[in-house]
Amino acid sequence: MYSLLLKNGRLVDPASGVDGKLDVAIEGTRIACAADDIDPGQASQTLDMEGKVIVPGIIDPHVHLTERLGGHEGFYMLAQAGITTAVDFAGPVSEIRDCFRKEACGLNIASLEAIIPGDNLSNENPPSKELEEVILSSLEEGGLGIKIMGGHYPLTPEATRRSVDVSNRNEAYIAIHAGTTKKGSNLEGALEAVDIIGASSAHLAHINSYCRGTVKPALEEVLDLLAKLRSRKNIVSGSYLAMVNGTSGKCIEGRPESLITRRCLEMGGYAQTTRGLEKAILSGFAGVSTRKGKTNVLLYGEEARKVWLEDDNVPVSFPVNSPEAILLCAITKRDDNSFIVPSFVSDGGAIARNCIVERGLMLVKMQYMSLADFILKTSINPARMLGLTTKGSLSPGKDGDITILDLETCTASMAIARGKIIMKDKEVLGTGGTMIITEKASPGFKGDHFQRISLSESQLYSKPAS
Ligand SMILES: [Zn+2]
Repeated sequence: MYSLLLKNGRLVDPASGVDGKLDVAIEGTRIACAADDIDPGQASQTLDMEGKVIVPGIIDPHVHLTERLGGHEGFYMLAQAGITTAVDFAGPVSEIRDCFRKEACGLNIASLEAIIPGDNLSNENPPSKELEEVILSSLEEGGLGIKIMGGHYPLTPEATRRSVDVSNRNEAYIAIHAGTTKKGSNLEGALEAVDIIGASSAHLAHINSYCRGTVKPALEEVLDLLAKLRSRKNIVSGSYLAMVNGTSGKCIEGRPESLITRRCLEMGGYAQTTRGLEKAILSGFAGVSTRKGKTNVLLYGEEARKVWLEDDNVPVSFPVNSPEAILLCAITKRDDNSFIVPSFVSDGGAIARNCIVERGLMLVKMQYMSLADFILKTSINPARMLGLTTKGSLSPGKDGDITILDLETCTASMAIARGKIIMKDKEVLGTGGTMIITEKASPGFKGDHFQRISLSESQLYSKPAS
């Protein structure tokens, strides 16, 4: 007996070469089969998918879900957006582990630990031994590895290099937000990061965000960076489809604490001061993130100013991403037809910009990419990057992670994770969740709520698929 049967939909599963009208049956947490006209009598629940497209569950490889970066509302927001698996890109891993069973809305969740001088590192130039302790601790706590927060809390170039070495040696996932004590979080920092990574392996976060036109025109920046990445399949990455970024509204001694916030103000022609930020909020240039019901929304104008005056330690967003960079990172391929930037990431979660389904499907609608390409960038490639061998496809035995797309409205109308419906028509139904951990996590983390993977299967550590 199947637990769930999806009838009459168009199944698109490029990993198994399928695109056609096929029914999909799920048994428990896994895909049982896909076939012509499966008898509803064999299933305890049957849903009619007429007019809908059934694709492997959407994986967002870069989101934020912890209190320090927007809050646990992010779980709900991801499920609502049609995501079935997401990676929290800063942690604390222990916070994700403590809250996911109650709050994850049925999602599959993994997490990286941010490494921050003065917090979990003694300074910005720590030795390999200290880095190794933090990396091994992240793995043991249930994380996939570490994230260097170069734009916010940079390390020296040498310590960045050591972090890559030590992560590679331990087969830990390493993500780098470009920027060091020598270079900024811009084109120069991104080119430096590619050189630092060299022939090693790493994930370079949100490629488009280094091409905001601060060093030279944004178009030239993105062409430079894509040219540099063209021959570097050892570097995995993602890019946004949203125009807005996410940074902090916190002000100290008359100016925003975050360098990125100050840069954004400068880009918009505002003074890099508390007053400048207030003006940017009032004029609608800066959005202020606030809770509304079960989600966070971006407010603008007077309403936003009030929220920010009450507590300035809230995420703020500026429309600073360059459209040229967004588009070229989304669609540019190598000669072998692989994408130079292999995945879409929202960098959302708790920040209201979970738009990879919506905007990715708009690119499909405009014929800038095929639906198979969209699935490559939102499921197949992220699964490969992360070593999620049971995801990215709907062949028998794979995880029952499915997103149902409505190509007319460019939205996800349903999300199914591990065989359970977690979202239907924007209503979030999922409860509990699954945390994806490595085989190096503490043996105490066991049971249905944990899925163990081996990062030796990650694209960072296995040969790239042809
Ligand atoms: Zn991020």
